[in-house]
Amino acid sequence: MTDKEILERLIDLHKIDEQIVKYEDEVSNMKERIKNIEEKIKEERRIFEEKKKKLDFFKKKKLELELEIKQRESEIKQKDSQISMIKTNEAYKALQLEIKTIRSEIEKFEDEILLIMEEEYREMKHFAEQENLLKDEEKKFKNEIEEFNKKIAEKENEINIKIEKRKEMMKGIDRGWLERYERIRSGKRLAMASIEVNADGDGVCSGCRFAIRPQAVIEVKKKTKILTCDNCARIWYIEEVNNIMKV
Ligand SMILES: [Zn+2]
Repeated sequence: MTDKEILERLIDLHKIDEQIVKYEDEVSNMKERIKNIEEKIKEERRIFEEKKKKLDFFKKKKLELELEIKQRESEIKQKDSQISMIKTNEAYKALQLEIKTIRSEIEKFEDEILLIMEEEYREMKHFAEQENLLKDEEKKFKNEIEEFNKKIAEKENEINIKIEKRKEMMKGIDRGWLERYERIRSGKRLAMASIEVNADGDGVCSGCRFAIRPQAVIEVKKKTKILTCDNCARIWYIEEVNNIMKV
């Protein structure tokens, strides 16, 4: 097998590997986005639950006021039971006044409870509305995740097809070069780098920006020799613009 034939087959393999790398990157991007969406859902739910704790305040306040009322009710009971033991009219009137004062205190607490209940009702309504919005958003996010998962499955399927295809292609490639190719690929994801050529014929390795002398550029272009980058070890090739890819 000539160097030209080997190089051409390696380029074909490389074209497949480029697509695999592209799909792998797309998959990992989508997985990253799913992770971000999931974190966002969790965070929004957490913030909501935190705000919702405000409702506990109303319950607590109501309990406190109800306790105050109970205490006063038992005070009234106690004073009522004293009435029969009272001897003078004045003492009777004084006791009645005390009871009346306590009753008005109870009324004040009851009014307060009513106000709290009204506010609690408003807040509960507000939170119910907020929760509905949040649920809508969660649903939207979940649909997005589902879409991503579908696309990921598609891409993974395509990757598997490409892997099968490259296995077939490997059979026709010079063993020594194939092993070298696979070794570079395992470390750098892509084993080949195209040479970018400027007007003066000087080249640059697209893999690492290493400068390449014109003589090497010519050899790679003619495919008379298989050359690798001294700097990044990738196998060089020159992209042929009008080449119909055999992929
Ligand atoms: Zn290089």
